[in-house]
Amino acid sequence: MHAQRTLRRSISCAGIGLHSGNKVTLSLKPATADTGIRFRRSDLGGLEVPATVSHVGGINHATGLARDTVQVDTVEHLLAAFVSLGIDNAIVELNSPEVPIMDGSAAPFIYLIHEAGVKPLAAPRRYVKVLRPMSLSRGDKRIALYPSDHFKVTYSIAFDHPLLRHQSRTVRLTEESFVEEIAPARTFGFLEEVEMMRQQGLALGGSLENAIVIGDTGVLNSALRFEDEFVRHKILDVIGDMALVGHPIIGHLIAHRGGHALHTEFAARVLDDVEAWTLVEAPVEPAPVPGMLPVNNAAPQAAN
Ligand SMILES: [Zn+2]
Repeated sequence: MHAQRTLRRSISCAGIGLHSGNKVTLSLKPATADTGIRFRRSDLGGLEVPATVSHVGGINHATGLARDTVQVDTVEHLLAAFVSLGIDNAIVELNSPEVPIMDGSAAPFIYLIHEAGVKPLAAPRRYVKVLRPMSLSRGDKRIALYPSDHFKVTYSIAFDHPLLRHQSRTVRLTEESFVEEIAPARTFGFLEEVEMMRQQGLALGGSLENAIVIGDTGVLNSALRFEDEFVRHKILDVIGDMALVGHPIIGHLIAHRGGHALHTEFAARVLDDVEAWTLVEAPVEPAPVPGMLPVNNAAPQAAN
């Protein structure tokens, strides 16, 4: 059994919302077993919205949650950090409707979680183990989940831009691979699109400090963190969006040209398709090495 986990202590930081441009204080707080991740608006008297697919609301270049009058936007990078570091339960307190964008990646949230520390709880973590394939297509966008003994993500992107004609990557997710290969990848946008978004009152907090901006001839930022930072960021996004299923996933997720709308629609579809997965309390152990006898964990082992 893997125990559910929460944060050891509370921790806070300040930043700005990417789309609203608002200043926001973010506090991550411990929570009891089976709480899940809940967003709390301190500016609305502490009203809460749980981070689950049934509360998805307001997909507009970011993933938002809504319940009654409570709205919280741009939750995906923080949720990806929580699920990848094995934080099952936490309260996320905000004094504004949008999670701060920080540097556009999940690395600052990893830092906060590491600073807060991790505490095991006396309840088993349950995983969604995929038993048979599930998929969803919308035009040329596609997302699917296949049975696998591990959580793996394969993502491919294709844009009509010389820099981003095609990128594809597969990652087997562990705490380490997430922290090193995925969490530092920043959000990105095309200069043209950014100008359009600003006219719609979006990306008001956006700058080269928190997003990669792609112009006609290349990236406006001084450098990329990875040559394929763009597809790595899409992997970060889909991990965060699929976290809305409410349990870590054991399966191979494959997405092509997805976005938040496709990811969250698929997360809801997965949760509904109860015949296609089962809840298990620990990942399947690796196959035994040939020639070795399987060890039964329940039985005491003979002393040599
Ligand atoms: Zn993102």
